[in-house]
This record gives sequence, C-alpha cells and structure tokens, in this order.
Amino acid sequence: MFNEKLLKLSEKIEMEIRPVFETYEKIAFNNQIKVLKAFKECKISDIHFNSTSGYGYDDIGRDVIDEVFAKAFGAEDCLVRHNIISGTHALATALFGVLRPSDIMLSVTGKPYDTLEEVIGIRGEDGNGSLKDYGIKYHQIDLVNGEIDYNAIKKYLQENKVKMVFIQRSKGYLDRPSLCIDEIKKISDFVKEIQKDVIVMVDNCYGEVVEEKEPTQVGVDIMAGSLIKNPGGGMAETGGYIAGRKDLITLCAYRLTSPGIGKEVGATLNQNKSIVKGLFFAPHIVKEAIKTAIFAAALYENLGFIVEPRFDSKRTDIISSIRFNDKDKLIAFCQGIQMGSPVDSHVLPEPWAMPGYSDEVIMAAGTFVQGASIELSADAPIKEPYLAYLQGGLTFESGKFGILSSCQNLIDKELINL
Ligand SMILES: *Cc1c(COP(=O)(O)O)cnc(C)c1O
Repeated sequence: MFNEKLLKLSEKIEMEIRPVFETYEKIAFNNQIKVLKAFKECKISDIHFNSTSGYGYDDIGRDVIDEVFAKAFGAEDCLVRHNIISGTHALATALFGVLRPSDIMLSVTGKPYDTLEEVIGIRGEDGNGSLKDYGIKYHQIDLVNGEIDYNAIKKYLQENKVKMVFIQRSKGYLDRPSLCIDEIKKISDFVKEIQKDVIVMVDNCYGEVVEEKEPTQVGVDIMAGSLIKNPGGGMAETGGYIAGRKDLITLCAYRLTSPGIGKEVGATLNQNKSIVKGLFFAPHIVKEAIKTAIFAAALYENLGFIVEPRFDSKRTDIISSIRFNDKDKLIAFCQGIQMGSPVDSHVLPEPWAMPGYSDEVIMAAGTFVQGASIELSADAPIKEPYLAYLQGGLTFESGKFGILSSCQNLIDKELINL
C-alpha cells in the first residue's frame, strides 16, 4: 500500500509532532467543557430531538439549538438552521440582514472569500441582486505583507461613516496567514475606538472551536459559518449558523424567512438531533482535523514544500496550504487525497469551472456528507503558485491515511522521490 521509506518517515514525524498535539488536546477539553456547560444550562433532553413538519410552530428543538449554540459561542443569540444551505448563504443572509441602502461595508482583511464577491457585487453582472444592486457600498483595505493595515483603516474610518467592518478569519483561497482571536479582538477594539457604533462582522468559517474563544467573546457583533465545517462536528447533514447581538440576529432571521416571522417558523425535518450531536462532537473532531493538518505540514515540510501554517505554528483554523509550484504535483496531491478517502476512493477529481469561483478548481472530497470540509478534503484553484488547501479529517487515523495516500500518489507518478 505505502512505500517502506514513506512509512519510516511517517513514524519519525509522528514522534516529533506529539508535543504539538498536546496543545490541541488541552484546547479541545476546554471547549468540550464550554459545550457541555451550555448543554446543561439549556437542559438538552430527548424531547428536543423530535421533528416537525409544515410551519414548524413550537419546535422546541429548533429553539434550544439556537440557545445552546449561542451559549457555547458566548453570543447573545444565534440562528442555526438546516435550511441555511452553506457558509456563503449564512454570510449573505447576515450581510443582507444588517446592511441597508447607502451603508458602507468595509473589509479590512482584503478581498473576501471568492463566493462573497458576487454577493457584494465586486464580480459578476449588475442586476443579480447583489448588495451593490441595493445601493450598499463596499470598500476594502488590503493586507500589507499579510498584515492588517491599521493606518489605512484609521484614515478611512476618520473620513467615512461606516456601518460594518468585515473581517475574514481564515485565509480562504488567499496566500496569507489566518487571523487569530487576539488579532480579531485588536481590530474590533481599534475600529470601535474610532467609530463606537460600527458593527464588526467576522466570516468565521473553519475557525470554530480551534481556539478557546470565539470572535463573539471578544467584542465582535456578528459572525457566521457553515455546519458542514467545524461546528457541525461531522454530524450535521447540512446547515449554517449566524451568531451575535440579539437585535442583529433578529434582522438576519427576518431576512432568512420574512420580516415579522423571523425565527419562529421553519420545520426541522428530523435535523435537530444531528445538529445537536454535531456541536457535542465539534471540539473533538476539530482536534482530529488539526492533528491531521499538523501531520500533513510536518510531512510535506520534510519533503521540501512550503506549508502554511508550519507544523508547530499557532493555529486559528483547520486549513493548511501547501505550495506545489507545479500544476501536475498539485493535481496528483488532490487526487491522492481522494484515493485515500472513505467514500468515492475509486474516482479521480478533475479541475472544473465551479459556480461561484473565478478560476478552475479541483476538489477532493471523499466524504459522507457531500462536500463537507470538516471531513478530509483538499481543494485548489488552478493558478500559480499552485497552492493546495487542505482541511478536515474526522479521525486522525483516517486523516493520516489520506495524507500518506497523497504522498504515495506523488511517488507513484514520479513527481517526488524520497
Ligand atoms: C468555506 C468558506 C466560506 C463559505 O463557503 P461555502 O462553501 O459556501 O460553505 C466562506 N468563507 C470562508 C473563509 C470559507 O472558508
């Protein structure tokens, strides 16, 4: 199955990374405490796992899920729904929920995630119903050498009344470090010092329960993410969440359903139990994904590739980027990840023009939940410097297997030698 030398190298690497694992085991335990405390406070019980149909009036499971997520995230309120269809939908719902014509949205972490470009209206056609179509203005302040440009932010805020400051925590498809909670707090404090009523929003995708605090616990007003990433713990079948200030969550619920109706309607169609279970599993599963990322970083660094973050760097999300500088290596890597997956290991992913993305993308996701990136997955836009983005791994053992399989595929194709 695997080359002798590769297995030897893997063993050696695993010895070296053990101490790094310990850090994340501690964080996982502290997050598990946070989650179980929320479960206790909300009196989670069998009755909450029942399903509703039709309007879904009085679905106490749906209500308690909002409450338990809010408590676990240290937020006033939360909107967790299976019919928030993706992370992009959660983020778009929050943006449309909060922003009004002539408001300014200021991104301080440069270009937002690819799929948000069409939501904002900085890519795609006019007339598609983007924020821009509704007269919402957008400005972005780029990172300088991967760092937040505090001077430029200050200058812009002194000259313009801004409704929302937008922060993307995880790097997305960008070649920059992700932002840790301390830095998010620093930005939030900084902008509120200049305009005290500005709404700070965080794209929290891939960041949940990686650190011991969430953005909403350090002054951020609203954040959103996907349930088929971290907070669904590999259990949620679909869904997204928005967490934050109560008044803002009400507006988001009005946007998702209808003004006046908000959170009070919506059948849960048997999804409650898997969503609750997902939050329960999230601290552990995220730790497994991080262990997989640490192993991958140590292995590929050893083979001479640049991996960000380094195997022993502080992490704030579950993503790693591996720089291949070569199209064939990149594709072989992603195909190898697929070969080492539990589902669809017999198919080969190919680059294609995915909706919402501007470059061709290759995606390896041999997952139980379609496209779930809390499960081991790799994706890459086909462009220089040929970076593969790697994330997930429901168990370290299966994650390690997938990583070794990617490496074996590179060896088999004679693209690397040990
Ligand atoms: C995944 C992700 C999103 C949303 O993606 P979906 O595929 O729509 O769930 C948004 N921002 C970042 C940084 C992400 O990683």
